[in-house]
Amino acid sequence: MGDDAAHPTTLDGRRLQHNLYGVITVTLNSFNLTDGGALERIVQVIPQTERKEIKMCDNHHALSRRDFIKLVAMGAGGALLASCKRGSRLTDVTSSTSSPPAVPTFPAGATANLILTNGKVMTVDASDTIVQAVAISGDKILATGTDEAIRALSTPGAQEIDLQGRTVTPGLIDPHLHFRAVGLNNTYYVPFILPDVKDVASLQYALADAIKGKQPGEWIMGYYMILADKSIPTKEDLDPVSPDNPVFIMHIGGHWGTANSVALQIADVTASTPSPQGGIIEKKDGEPSGVFYNHRAMDVVRRFAPPITSDMIKQSILETQTLMASVGVTTFHDNNIRALEDLRAYQELSQAGKLFLRNDLYLTLEWPSDLEKVDQVEQIDDGVTRFRGFKFLIDGQGPTAHCYKPHNGVEWRLTTWDPKMFKDTIRRLHDTGLQICVHCIGDAAADLVLEAYEAAMNANPRSDPRHRLEHAILTTTKATQKMKDLGVVVSTQPAFIYLFGEAWNYLFGAERMERIMVTKEWMQSGVHVAIGSDAPSTPFYQPQATLAGAMTRYTFKQNTIGADQTFTFNEALRAHTYEGAYSGHQENVKGTLEAGKLADMVVWASDPSLLSPEELFSSTVDLTLVGGKIVFRRT
Ligand SMILES: [Zn+2]
Repeated sequence: MGDDAAHPTTLDGRRLQHNLYGVITVTLNSFNLTDGGALERIVQVIPQTERKEIKMCDNHHALSRRDFIKLVAMGAGGALLASCKRGSRLTDVTSSTSSPPAVPTFPAGATANLILTNGKVMTVDASDTIVQAVAISGDKILATGTDEAIRALSTPGAQEIDLQGRTVTPGLIDPHLHFRAVGLNNTYYVPFILPDVKDVASLQYALADAIKGKQPGEWIMGYYMILADKSIPTKEDLDPVSPDNPVFIMHIGGHWGTANSVALQIADVTASTPSPQGGIIEKKDGEPSGVFYNHRAMDVVRRFAPPITSDMIKQSILETQTLMASVGVTTFHDNNIRALEDLRAYQELSQAGKLFLRNDLYLTLEWPSDLEKVDQVEQIDDGVTRFRGFKFLIDGQGPTAHCYKPHNGVEWRLTTWDPKMFKDTIRRLHDTGLQICVHCIGDAAADLVLEAYEAAMNANPRSDPRHRLEHAILTTTKATQKMKDLGVVVSTQPAFIYLFGEAWNYLFGAERMERIMVTKEWMQSGVHVAIGSDAPSTPFYQPQATLAGAMTRYTFKQNTIGADQTFTFNEALRAHTYEGAYSGHQENVKGTLEAGKLADMVVWASDPSLLSPEELFSSTVDLTLVGGKIVFRRT
């Protein structure tokens, strides 16, 4: 641990108490898109862990295969969930969730109560029509057109917003983020991130600071971003400053983390503890190093940490809602709901009228035993909050990407679920009539998911299930065709390239870099591609970073990855609006500015279509409207 003089960016205690905006703003400042140099000097994101022998065992969390078969067999008619007898449970709504609702129409003579005039309204309709004005009646768009035509629809008491030439687009739809977790990164988790934490010494300094005032035995849960002198810290890096407190710090990407010796002791992780199926408990010279890869391994330690309370979740959701509204998001999909309590938190907030951003929720199934939760999920659809389906992870992040050929990470053959059990589970969940989305990074992972979808769809042909691939970082050309054939939607995050592109280059090598996140290939092949942030897995929570990322595809070293895969602004905007709606079966009710659709829209401070990607990255919005109501106004 160094002294203050050696650490000009040392903590003064105040920085750890930044509000959500503060932490993220500080972080973003150090990721200035036009100055990758500063980051380059301190970044070393490449895992250098030696390859390990992986021992598998059934973790006691998981059901045995026989138990699993028993569980799924309980669903009469082959549907695991269809057997549920309670009132508003999932399968009662099967038909309404699998087909898009029709575009609503207005009665003749309907008038507007709000009009936006004198602007540039980018409708994102099929022809990318641009008009001057838009009329809103209640929560829907009554019409778009010229100022004159729109004014003719307003009544004397109607409100008029003079856009003064500003640009309006549909509200941004983020189809993949961990919404409930964004705020937790400043409450439950202690941030050990740039600019305060940039190497092991500054991590130790910050950790010591976080422990000050804690009782012995109190947990420190944290997350880190990048350390210049060590890609992944081990217990030896944490132990000197945490002799009496259990510590677990996760990488910001969320797929590996490090425990100190106190935490290992509490979790009873020793030299003889085998890795759980689908995860890796790293050993060095036979002893646990403190590093855990993939959620199933991290769960071995995390389940001893203090629970995240419902109040914390609710507070996080509300703070994140304010933050996302301020950058123009009007709908989000939370793809990482890990507990039924989290679903209930959303439902209670929605019922209390506290949610103003529309949200689609997906329950994460990490362990086979999580299938028990499925039976307890209540269908939610109140116009704001909707339960949509299920989320899986089939591999980890880069170092544990499931690939056909070896990569320079930690393990390239590992799937987080036993493939057979995974396929059985996909089949059963497909039968519920709901949507499934699966995290996949490696090419073999994507194919495994597509195979599982195909088998389920062949066995039970449902009209347009729109199952999804999340991320799909590395895929084959054959996979593109399969996505198209199956109607599978890709939900991916172009801003990842900035942060992780250099690491992928090291991990996968030049040949496979040709196949990184092939957004244009998918789009041109007729695959639906929706783009979003995956916040807080990177600091780039704002759609402006996602749009700029899709248009540039460059890394912090200014290397472009797949120049032929870049989107134009219009393509990126469509992928962040219409396609986001499409990814949740909602393209007929939102995602474009057309008569009958929900009045979810954004007024930009400057015309985003005319900005350079760098300007777009740091651009702002003046107004965000959801259902015709202003939910954010820049003051
Ligand atoms: Zn995610």
